[in-house]
Amino acid sequence: MKSFRKELWFAVPARRAFINITPAIEECLRESGVSEGFALVNAMHITASVFINDDESGLHQDFDQWLEVLAPHEPVSQYHHNVGEDNADAHLKRQIMGREVVVAITEGRLDFGPWEQIFYGEFDGRRKKRVLVKIIGE
Ligand code: ZN
Repeated sequence: MKSFRKELWFAVPARRAFINITPAIEECLRESGVSEGFALVNAMHITASVFINDDESGLHQDFDQWLEVLAPHEPVSQYHHNVGEDNADAHLKRQIMGREVVVAITEGRLDFGPWEQIFYGEFDGRRKKRVLVKIIGE
């Protein structure tokens, strides 16, 4: 069995953003040489997410607005967590959008459903963060 591990680094200049990381994961898959197996992709930070959905800018705006309704950034004083920091909303947003995805690898390709793409969701950016890619298979 082959095993591949790589960390992808992100430095999002804004507080929040969604980034399509599918091409980077496909590059990892090529590097791994795996043609049948699984790819795990997870955010290594508790204020960022990895999730699968459609690559559509209107939808990303909708996600952002929906998350701001559920866990608004302001006022930061509304959260118990915000003693000496201001990112409680980012922890909550990450919990809603998830930590990781697992994608089947079939015949050397990510075996997606129609329109599925992998995204990095940043909720407390303006610093460097990592995503872990682990690919196993044959
Ligand atoms: Zn925090």
